[in-house]
Amino acid sequence: MAIPFLQAARVGSYIVRQHLAGRKRYPLALMLEPLFRCNLACAGCGKIDYPDPILDLRLSLKECLEAVDESGAPVVSIAGGEPLLHKEMPEIVKGIIARKRFVYLCTNALLLEKKLDQYEPSPYFVWSVHLDGDKQMHDHSVCQDGVYERAVAAIRSAKARGFRVNINCTLFNDAVPDQVAGFFDSLKGIGVDGITVSPGYAYERAPDQEHFLTRNKTRELFRSIFARGRNGRNWDFSQSSLFLDFLAGNQNYHCTPWGNPCRTVFGWQRPCYLLGEGYAASFRELMEETDWDAYGTGNYEKCANCMVHSGYEATAVADTFRHPLKALAVSMRGVRTEGAMAPDIALDKQRPAEYTFNKEVAIRLDQIGGRATQTRPGVGAAGVPRAAGAPVNAPEAGDR
Ligand code: SF4
Repeated sequence: MAIPFLQAARVGSYIVRQHLAGRKRYPLALMLEPLFRCNLACAGCGKIDYPDPILDLRLSLKECLEAVDESGAPVVSIAGGEPLLHKEMPEIVKGIIARKRFVYLCTNALLLEKKLDQYEPSPYFVWSVHLDGDKQMHDHSVCQDGVYERAVAAIRSAKARGFRVNINCTLFNDAVPDQVAGFFDSLKGIGVDGITVSPGYAYERAPDQEHFLTRNKTRELFRSIFARGRNGRNWDFSQSSLFLDFLAGNQNYHCTPWGNPCRTVFGWQRPCYLLGEGYAASFRELMEETDWDAYGTGNYEKCANCMVHSGYEATAVADTFRHPLKALAVSMRGVRTEGAMAPDIALDKQRPAEYTFNKEVAIRLDQIGGRATQTRPGVGAAGVPRAAGAPVNAPEAGDR
């Protein structure tokens, strides 16, 4: 299992305490996005298409630690943007570890070797390196040649210095099951401790709208992949067995967006890490004043095809808590890859999508006194067309 005993025990006891306290909604992993700026421009990314005044915003060390304290989540996943572009990132990580929370520091690894000296191995710390497949798959996914090889070299360096290293892998509808299985097989050879895998969410701002998976295609794809690895047992996933079972169409889950609340430079994002349809000023306001029933598959058009880790892992973990023997059986026997799938959620009553991006951008630009520059996919912040694969965001000085 890719989740160490200390982490499983502490997270397990946290969940027990939440249930004993009768809490209906509680966070499992805080998604902390201290910046949107990145040094890559991946085709499937919906996070970086902001005007420069917004890309220049950072959550401070103080704001990051306040978010950690406010949410109380036992796990903190630091995402972005590229977190290693944030000058205070070593102090942010140290502050979270001092609170005995488990930190997953997500990175595309382009700056990892250069910054390794600023971090220390800890049972509370994991590098989560973005790798969407083998060299051909990953370089295609991030729209830049050579990124896979740099990421693998950085993983080897981190392992040599005693760090725990996971990969986070997002799959799209051009994923080939044999190739994905071969990629997963190769990860032990480069020292990877755990795999987090998820289908891509169809971000409305992503430049490439052609390659997102539908729910049926997701279920078929994951069955085909798991079938090539002893029903998934060949690989060390850093995810619950029931989430993997859900990806393969064997569980019928509704999402738990409050399980992975997201704090960005705009505030607490409603309703989840994937959708930004308004922001709350505090974690309490997010939890108490969000109309949760307005979201989720079957409720909202933008949620129709979502099966993403940040939306459903908390659901699977809660199910594991309620049905431990079911979860254990999937762990032991592997994910079922044949036979009937669980019925999926009907979409006939979902409300239509609302497109709020430009409104939110205008509000934020007004707040920070920037120019209300309109952006759209494929167009840079200044309205200049962006070449496919060209970095939208200049890295900070000295970070190349
Ligand atoms: S289904 Fe849930 S997790 Fe997915 S986008 Fe909708 S609200 Fe977010």
